[in-house]
Amino acid sequence: TDIKPVSLRQVVDEATLLLQPQIKQKQVQLDLVLSEEDIIVRGGRIRLEQVVVNLLSNAVDAVAGNPVPTVSLALRREGEEAVLTVTDNGPGIDADVLPQIFDPFFTTKDVGAGLGLGLSIAYKIVHDFSGSLKAANLDRGGAMFIMRLPVADERI
Ligand code: ADP
Ligand code: MG
Repeated sequence: TDIKPVSLRQVVDEATLLLQPQIKQKQVQLDLVLSEEDIIVRGGRIRLEQVVVNLLSNAVDAVAGNPVPTVSLALRREGEEAVLTVTDNGPGIDADVLPQIFDPFFTTKDVGAGLGLGLSIAYKIVHDFSGSLKAANLDRGGAMFIMRLPVADERI
């Protein structure tokens, strides 16, 4: 696989642009919390965009029942790691399905609404680039997905 330096700022820009029609149609408020500086990781740009699109698309689905549907995407650097989180104010993830959400074809959506592949694909891509992808529920309700990737070593 082709691994190159990738700007996470660009990945976020393009993923949010791709999701604009759904965000607009469902009147979701998208909050972006981006660090001042861009963060460069090693990976594939299109594949990383796919990860962010899949996380955002799930978040947009999840907030459908909220009167003020809100999704927030944050990107920051923590030491030698890039940390990208997608948070929503939907119902959160049921504890009994939490262990299965990254499995291929696992879905809680209606037939036709979801194939259950988005998170399994995202998980594989992130791990291919030596990162991690985790899910959590927030105390205030809603779900959070956390992607971590090693920051590219600028000396290389
Ligand atoms: P799909 O979106 O086709 O159902 P995914 O692999 O993207 O497949 O997600 C699998 C399942 O994980 C979803 O059906 C849902 O149950 C759960 N899930 C994913 N994202 C969220 C979220 N933001 N809030 C609540 N549940 C979620
Ligand atoms: Mg999905």
